[in-house]
Amino acid sequence: MGKCIHCRRKITLGKDGATEGSATLEHIVPRTHGGTNDLDNLSIACSRCNHQKGRKLDVLHASDARLQDVITRLKQRKEDRYRSPVPQLAYLFDSTASFYD
Ligand SMILES: [Zn+2]
Repeated sequence: MGKCIHCRRKITLGKDGATEGSATLEHIVPRTHGGTNDLDNLSIACSRCNHQKGRKLDVLHASDARLQDVITRLKQRKEDRYRSPVPQLAYLFDSTASFYD
């Protein structure tokens, strides 16, 4: 269970860690701007918000103040809301992990 980092809608995670329904993994720093797949850079967002943000931000230059402002706010929200990384998602980025054994 998580919440969209943008609109706070509840999002359910499946037992295998997969996002269900409209959930997507959100890159706080967009990959087009050098963001990584590290958990530090990931949060959960509903697909509606993720797609809206993606379209808006990907066209901005990396040094654009609006982009930096959004990234700063998202990082702050993530720090406020999540005390620890989401273990269910870690397996996505580490093929040797097995949290459900
Ligand atoms: Zn949302």
